[in-house]
Amino acid sequence: MKLTMQVKLLPTAEQAASLLKTMEQFNAACDTLAAIAFSNKCANKVELQKIAYHGIRADFGLSAQMTVRAIAKVVEVYKRDKSIQPSFRPHGAIVYDERILSWKGSDRVSVLTVDGREIMPWVAGAYQHARLDRVRGQADLIYRDGQFFLYVTIDVGDVPPGDPTEYLGVDLGRKNIAADNDGETFSGAHIANLRNRHARLRRKLQKKGTKSAKRLLKRRRAKESRFARDVNHRISKAIVRKAKDTGRGIALEDLKGIRARTTVRRSQRRAHHSWSFHQLRAFLTYKAAMEGVPLVCVDPRNTSRECPCCGMIDKRNRPDRDTFRCIQCGHAGPADTTAAVNISRRGSRHAAERRAA
Ligand SMILES: [Zn+2]
Repeated sequence: MKLTMQVKLLPTAEQAASLLKTMEQFNAACDTLAAIAFSNKCANKVELQKIAYHGIRADFGLSAQMTVRAIAKVVEVYKRDKSIQPSFRPHGAIVYDERILSWKGSDRVSVLTVDGREIMPWVAGAYQHARLDRVRGQADLIYRDGQFFLYVTIDVGDVPPGDPTEYLGVDLGRKNIAADNDGETFSGAHIANLRNRHARLRRKLQKKGTKSAKRLLKRRRAKESRFARDVNHRISKAIVRKAKDTGRGIALEDLKGIRARTTVRRSQRRAHHSWSFHQLRAFLTYKAAMEGVPLVCVDPRNTSRECPCCGMIDKRNRPDRDTFRCIQCGHAGPADTTAAVNISRRGSRHAAERRAA
């Protein structure tokens, strides 16, 4: 499996100016190359290189390899639609390969610019740091909101998946962000509190509507999404670790079913509907793949109404959103844990059926 990680560069003011100038020269070269490709109806890298390479190098002060990258970028875009001449934003991305970018130790990177090679520090989350030893191939240099980032592709998923008989059932987004069939819940009230505090501040700033309030709002949103991402990383990591340590797979509800249900029944609408569950599922999926933990998606129908003790399915088994109490046998517990038990069983059944087939 391939993953993209984001690394933030910390250039000096001069280095930042060099990076910007490099992007501008590079994309200006791309525009000229696009005109040449278009007028010659040439969508072939080797051909375009023959026609334009020397002229572009001389006119835009690009290195040999950077000229090759510019040609590759133009051909890639032009190939998609030959009826129009592509144009490029001045600060559009540059693809860096190993010839023009190299990692120095664990905290610096050497990047080729129009002013020569520049060595600068970079930062990333602890998770990214741990994975950077797997970096292969190229990185995209991106300029966003006045800052420079490298988008790095890494190869993961070297561990072949096992074939467990038991599945850790995980219910997402009912009372907690996640709950498993062991009775463990993942969220914590502090998350809800923090989100409420953010929401209040957001309303206040929106009412103000001034330029500085808007700027603050934008920063606040970025901070919230970083926060959500961090929480999703931590929760998915804990769940995958637990499954691996106990020799279980992971079972989740099929996402399509959950979407259908939230539109149909208001009473079962997820508590954390604004939470980024899509991201949490994506993190669970790739972390499970990396650790060789099989992940299955099961039929979500009635997971919250079925009694795991006697099998009774009835909507009255849910006296309120957070509680399960069976009207037939009296079995009771938190609604999300109970749903997770049903999800776990469906996961194990799913695996048994697959093995029998
Ligand atoms: Zn029952």
